[in-house]
Amino acid sequence: MKIDVLTLFPEMFEGVFGSSILKKAKEEGHVSYQAVDFREYTTNKHKKVDDYPYGGGAGMVLSPQPIFDAVDDLKQQNDTSPRVIMLCPQGERYTQAKAEELAKEEHLILLCGHYEGYDERVRKHLVTDEISIGDYVLTGGELGAMVIADSVTRLLPNVLGNEESAVTDSFSTGLLEHPQYTRPAEFRGMEVPDVLLSGHHANIERWRKKESLKRTLERRPDLLEERELTVEEERLLEEIKREQ
Ligand code: SAM
Repeated sequence: MKIDVLTLFPEMFEGVFGSSILKKAKEEGHVSYQAVDFREYTTNKHKKVDDYPYGGGAGMVLSPQPIFDAVDDLKQQNDTSPRVIMLCPQGERYTQAKAEELAKEEHLILLCGHYEGYDERVRKHLVTDEISIGDYVLTGGELGAMVIADSVTRLLPNVLGNEESAVTDSFSTGLLEHPQYTRPAEFRGMEVPDVLLSGHHANIERWRKKESLKRTLERRPDLLEERELTVEEERLLEEIKREQ
């Protein structure tokens, strides 16, 4: 996969693309990243990429020309039909399901806005997706682009050492993940549940499924409403409700 980010602040990405799992994924050839300064594409002699809004009002609006030209150039360079994703507080709310969908693509272009946002023609005629990372307003799309690059990269085949760890993650299964413990078995008087020390795999799996359901019921009951429960899950949920 190739992930290109169009931004006015490419230096912001050095830390994220150069650390941890993203760095390793790049070094192992699973993904390549590029942060491209779209100011380089402006035809304005003062290197401006924004202008006053038609009709007046506060703030500056990103001009269409540098953004259209940068996307055209990236498409040509790579000979691909990429998903062109606009980071935007008005977009569809980002989810694990969307990350899974994007992880199947070969080329993503992430477009980071700034100031008041983009000229509407970018939204209408250039982008394939508009994504918001939550109901709040950031100064720019860079943090959102990092969120997408990170969440997509960890889903690519062979990126995580142990594939299991992505499979049981919260949201991947439609539920929140069960609690995790590591050594020591007793710490400051706080003990690890006996079942996890038992070595009995079936009991451990049952405990994990039940804890996962319990946690989802407590914290995100909306996820359970959307889910088609298996017979075992229904039984476990009844048990949980009886115990509460
Ligand atoms: N005037 C715009 C509006 O009200 O919809 C907000 C512009 S915001 C200050 C500047 C840029 O930050 C946006 O163009 C977008 O790229 C990014 N941004 C802000 N909040 C975001 C969010 N919740 N998710 C994704 N990107 C966001």
